[in-house]
Amino acid sequence: MVNTENMRITSSSITSLPMELVTEVLARVAASSSIDLFRAKQSCKMIFEASKDNYVYRRASLEEYPIVSWRENSGVSMFLNECRLNKNPEALYRKGVVDYFGGKDLELAFECLKEAAKSGHDEASYALGIIFLFNGGALKQKGITLLNSMKKSRIQKRRVKNYRENLRRILRMIWVKNALILNQRPKCCTMQHEKKKSGWPADEIDEDDNNFCEGCKCDEEIRPICDALPRVFV
Ligand SMILES: [Zn+2]
Repeated sequence: MVNTENMRITSSSITSLPMELVTEVLARVAASSSIDLFRAKQSCKMIFEASKDNYVYRRASLEEYPIVSWRENSGVSMFLNECRLNKNPEALYRKGVVDYFGGKDLELAFECLKEAAKSGHDEASYALGIIFLFNGGALKQKGITLLNSMKKSRIQKRRVKNYRENLRRILRMIWVKNALILNQRPKCCTMQHEKKKSGWPADEIDEDDNNFCEGCKCDEEIRPICDALPRVFV
């Protein structure tokens, strides 16, 4: 026998929840998977409405979408755009890196990276540090300070290594057309250091400590980025 009383309670349970709570739950779903968010949106009108909240877009995970997609999908593009407009840090980072290195809308790209970094997106901070170095002048010192502040402990150095690899991966996937990036080979250390006697062989993370000064450390940081760029034939 069907218990109609229970059915009534069950069917009204979601709509009886405060909208803020539904939005919070939905934001958590989105933070774990955007595809789950889309599935949830189709379940009822209330969830569909809650999914339009800025907070949901800001928290959404973009892991399920490649940074560079060769197949245009307008639904996905609209979603990513909406995420960026609502200050989703990963969406801002992607737009910033792809456009800045791609030589498109440099000012907007730079702002996107700054906004992402401000929200605590460390990969965006790392990319900004690299961009500062390439820009040279007064920004070079800013880049040196920023990158050094990100590598104070072994754990941080390991994280930076991952950021560097991710940035190199993106650079290999996109058309790097920014002339500043292509033509500049910034050099941060201008000093002549005496050669240090090598002791025990260092692992990759300790190698950084064998550099003589902040400038040397940044030169080491720039080299792998330049290696990932297309060759420029003059
Ligand atoms: Zn040096």
